[in-house]
Amino acid sequence: MSENTKGCSDSTCTKESCEGCEHSNESMMEQLNQYSSIKNVIGVVSGKGGVGKSFVTAMLAVLLNRKGYRVGILDADITGPSIPRMFGINRKASANEMGIIPELTVNNIKIMSVNLLLDKEDSPVVWRGPILAGTVKQFWTEVVWEELDYLLIDMPPGTGDVPLTVFQSIPLDGIVIVSSPQDLVSLIVKKAYNMAKLMNIPILGYVENMSYVKCPDCGKEIPLFGKSGLDEIAKETGVDVLGRIPIDPALASLVDQGEFERFSCDYLKDAADRIEKMYGSAK
Ligand code: ADP
Repeated sequence: MSENTKGCSDSTCTKESCEGCEHSNESMMEQLNQYSSIKNVIGVVSGKGGVGKSFVTAMLAVLLNRKGYRVGILDADITGPSIPRMFGINRKASANEMGIIPELTVNNIKIMSVNLLLDKEDSPVVWRGPILAGTVKQFWTEVVWEELDYLLIDMPPGTGDVPLTVFQSIPLDGIVIVSSPQDLVSLIVKKAYNMAKLMNIPILGYVENMSYVKCPDCGKEIPLFGKSGLDEIAKETGVDVLGRIPIDPALASLVDQGEFERFSCDYLKDAADRIEKMYGSAK
């Protein structure tokens, strides 16, 4: 990795973050599909897989959709795509001369995922990094999203090559970092935080998933993974906690039935309000 005079490095430089450096004429940002117009692009990231990144992406998408915004979800978690299943979508995407047409949920959230392109939903995606990243880029350049107020991107997990390429190729307006209480011990959240900082992308806040379980008899909140350190990390990094979600069997069951849109909890209500306040539908 070579450093230039502006202090950025070849692998992290984007035109936006590095105006004036020697890379500034070679933006790596991809062009959005010509029939699409997207006001706000929000990435949902996590330092590792399995913490509920797709879960949080879907929940925020539904809450923004309920506020009346036109919402899409780009499932960039190519090797672990779970968005279509959560919304009970198992149809295949179609295409026309304009590009690839996203599928619609019951309430008209637009979805694009590699699962909508595979012959069989359970086929493993055994592609190397550049192909994975290339597919995500195609979801940006070739999908006919049309007019959206919010596109939520379920980012590839971790801080490796694929998420890095996505960060460099799609102009994100902000990111939400999802963690579980366990992550904080191993500083995985800090890695996601540092990556976003390096790429100059505004961090909207943290969401802690699987924070606790509620005893069905007495209602007591039990911190299954021990005491959370998120507040300390939030203070240290100057980033707000947008919300906390418990392990909720009712939500897990909605996921399994493909009826996630029907949830009625308000764990991320404040988070959606904050996003609305920050961006509204304007740009
Ligand atoms: P990631 O996208 O980070 O890999 P997912 O969002 O796919 O993780 O979540 C992993 C699994 O855990 C999914 O089956 C999901 O439905 C379930 N899950 C995630 N968060 C919760 C929660 N708060 N309550 C119940 N089940 C959850």
